[in-house]
Amino acid sequence: MPKKSMPPTNVFPRQCEALSARRAFPRQRQHGPGALIAWWMGVTFCLAAPLSLDAATPTKLAATSFGAAGEVSGSLHVLDTGNGRWMIDCGAMAEKSPAGQPPAGATADEPQSPSVAQSLPPGVEAVSAVFLTHAHADHLGRLPLLVDRGFAGPIYMTEATAALAVPMLRVLLRFDQDTVRHWTWSKQSWEQAERDRRTVYVHWRNCRRRQKIAPEAAEQATCSMQELGARCGGSAARRKVALCGECLDEQIAATLRNVRPVKYGVATDAAPGVRVTFLDAGHIPGSASIQFDVALGAKKRRVLFSGDLGNHLSPLLPAPRAAPEADAVFVEATYGPISRKASVREQPAAFRHAVAEAVAHGGIAWIPCFALERTQRILYELHLAQREKLLPDRLPIYCPSPAAREVTDVYNVLRPRGWFSLAITADADAFSPQEMRFRTPSGKRLPRPCVILHTGDPLVVPWTRRLLGTLLPEPSTSIVLVGYQTAGSAGELLLHGATKLDLDGQAIPVRAKVHCFSCFSGHADATEIDAWLSGISKQATLILVHGDREQLLARAAQLRGQGRTHVMIAKPGETIALE
Ligand SMILES: [Zn+2]
Ligand SMILES: [Zn+2]
Ligand SMILES: [Zn+2]
Repeated sequence: MPKKSMPPTNVFPRQCEALSARRAFPRQRQHGPGALIAWWMGVTFCLAAPLSLDAATPTKLAATSFGAAGEVSGSLHVLDTGNGRWMIDCGAMAEKSPAGQPPAGATADEPQSPSVAQSLPPGVEAVSAVFLTHAHADHLGRLPLLVDRGFAGPIYMTEATAALAVPMLRVLLRFDQDTVRHWTWSKQSWEQAERDRRTVYVHWRNCRRRQKIAPEAAEQATCSMQELGARCGGSAARRKVALCGECLDEQIAATLRNVRPVKYGVATDAAPGVRVTFLDAGHIPGSASIQFDVALGAKKRRVLFSGDLGNHLSPLLPAPRAAPEADAVFVEATYGPISRKASVREQPAAFRHAVAEAVAHGGIAWIPCFALERTQRILYELHLAQREKLLPDRLPIYCPSPAAREVTDVYNVLRPRGWFSLAITADADAFSPQEMRFRTPSGKRLPRPCVILHTGDPLVVPWTRRLLGTLLPEPSTSIVLVGYQTAGSAGELLLHGATKLDLDGQAIPVRAKVHCFSCFSGHADATEIDAWLSGISKQATLILVHGDREQLLARAAQLRGQGRTHVMIAKPGETIALE
């Protein structure tokens, strides 16, 4: 049994090796996902030359929020300085319900079924540069679409964000069912897939596999992946359609080709009179607040975008850097006016004991969580529980998610490089508890006891639906909820005390124990954001973003009550003058 997940080796090629690494792509793919990260890292260190600066200086200062305005998802803001238009984030929108509303309480940083085939505000492909706050889907998910539409300018982000962008883009693009493409596949592989119940791989880029298809054997169609799947007979068909892995890697590489890595606290001259500085936001590794210093003639103006702000609860990351003085701040309000109870500090220990109790009774602990950050945070808690001897060393821990595996590999690479708290930096096993297995449990019977970390809704995937059907009626099972549960998911139904779940037309009784822990949230609450804002004058303009409507209204009232005189709520598409 593999004991630990090992980080990919040689992930950071030296500068001089970088261009040859770039030429070698995509042949490096055969070395696994780490190779794509390695390829990217090398390229960007070499190509991170400063922009050639236009002589024009700023003539105006205005900002427009096109996403995360009155909602949590799709973060996208444009700051216009007259001599350049600067995009802050290019995030995916969460799927809307039939009523056109995002799912209730949609605070997920990995929206359920986010689609990259979404519209972009008209003309944004002509912005001068993009600045990404962090690698969550709701902040980078529309980047492939922007590049597809012809954006070829620099994309600034931290090294850690760029490394995490690779697995995040892979998830988004692999499951992108909606974008219309000109697809090519081989007639023979289509027939073979039908015969052998295999997957047929289709191409939309001129990858090496597509080049091997003889013109007379090629079949083509222009449609979405979903329509192509339907042509195969839908989900009931023996044949399945999937995007070719090489096309996928080529698209990720194309999306990240113009990435320029930046360091916290080191200013970049984006244009004359426009200096941009990334500040540690403590939300996930590499996350940043972004500060724009703009010289409008003799006037100096500072505009700050908070990005998603972390909290003081995570042992993984240092707390966010307090905001510097600024004239205008776009500040997140995921928690609205709410502050957590002090008792949440005790919850991680309670979580470890809840898992230990399930295991001591020979049961299975099922923990649904997101692939980025939450999975690694839980792996760290399981590692602590093993160190505290609460869990046996030989306890199998399953995480059947390729995305979680790839993100964890990136965490392991970043861990000694200064992106984490000192305790994590010094702990080589922080994300590698004993007996960690990034795969589906094999065989008919699960080993008992065991722990299963599961990304996504188990109701969606047939094998997890079946497994849930056998686990829920067992009193020895513990369902451990560690954060936001998407509306309508199994987690959400159980959180609200469902005594039965409908699985494939069968009412399954819930006898399992359900535990819920709110301490693993990656967002600052109202009190923490107040502390973050404490260095900013009461007269500064605060523009609230990244929150549900009700939360935003309540938060605005709370901030006004604190004596803040200029509090606004961003409206989609509305331009705010900041001169
Ligand atoms: Zn977010
Ligand atoms: Zn986030
Ligand atoms: Zn291909």
